[in-house]
Order: sequence, then structure tokens, then C-alpha cells
Amino acid sequence: MSDWIQVTPPRVDLVNGAMEGATRHYVKSYADLEGIFEDVAAFEARRAAAADEVAYEVDEYRSSDNAGDLAFGTSRVYPGLVGREFNMTRGHVHVRGDRAELYYCLSGHGVLLLQEPGGAAQVVELYPGTAAYVPPFALHRSVNVGHVPLVTLFCYPSDSGQDYDVVFGAHGMRLLVVRDPSGGWTVAENPAYVPPT
Ligand code: ZN
Repeated sequence: MSDWIQVTPPRVDLVNGAMEGATRHYVKSYADLEGIFEDVAAFEARRAAAADEVAYEVDEYRSSDNAGDLAFGTSRVYPGLVGREFNMTRGHVHVRGDRAELYYCLSGHGVLLLQEPGGAAQVVELYPGTAAYVPPFALHRSVNVGHVPLVTLFCYPSDSGQDYDVVFGAHGMRLLVVRDPSGGWTVAENPAYVPPT
């Protein structure tokens, strides 16, 4: 039997997203998320109060970085607000831009925010069972608009790479996902957005 056969395949907890057998795990606390929220004062207050609080974490299973191979894993975005914005991932585009991705929502309530290179945005609401497609060249970020962790399973080509700087350089994405006065969520134009050149 070749060594790439998974004798014990990774297992995913459907509620908390923890992946047994992951080859990589990372955590982002508020201390790591400077520059992604619109409301700087609210962010500073949150970081001062809870610098080590985990905002999101990722488990991944990766066999190799080779073209044609697949990486997959789980992302867990914890509930919370910074100013009017919900907790979210940093957002990225793939370094090899033509690589697509699948996000499958396992639990929680969220939004997958997609943005084409021309700036057109798409908002995909995530409920358990939603299979959301990230097209090639799309910026993408997940946002937790609910009260429990947003858990998604993702899968993408292993050689995709993630470019986070493009989102920082643009001061975020064109749309913000914000709390609605009624207690739900809505989107708003990001006043600080600078289209990437
Ligand atoms: Zn991606």
C-alpha cells in the first residue's frame, strides 16, 4: 500500500469543527487581526479587553503542495461584534488566482463574502448544509452573523496559496457585513475601500 493511502482518515466534529488527524492548526486572536475591522476604536477596545481571545481557528489536512492535489479542513469563526461588524476571517485571494474552492457549512449561521476582481460582490448566506462555491480569482472571507461558532469545511487545490495582503492593501473588501438595527445582518459599502490596482 502506498503511503498516501489514509489508513485513518481525518475526522471532523460536526458541531465544533475540530478535525482529528489535521496536519496543520492555527489560531487567530484579536491581537492578530489589526487592520481588518472598520471601526478602529472598537477594535482597539476589543483587543485591549481580550487580546488572546480566539476570533477564529483553522484545521487543515494537506498531503502535499503539488498541483492536482487537494487540501481540506475546517474553519471555525467565533461569534462576536467589533463595532457594527461581525467577526470574520482576514480574507484572501489565491496566489494562483485560477484556483477555485468549496466551502460547506457544517454548523452555525454565516456569510461567505465573495468579490470579483472588478469589484462585483456576492453574498452567500451559510446555513448547515450550504455548499458555497468560490470561483477562480474571487476574494473570499467568512463572517459569523450568528450566536454560535460558524463551522465550515473547505477544500481547494493544494498549490493555490493565500494572498492576504491584497485585502489589507484595499482596506478590506468592498462590502462590510454589519449588524442590522433589527438584530439581523445586512451589508454596507465599505467607506475605506480602495480598489486594488
Ligand atoms: Zn481560499
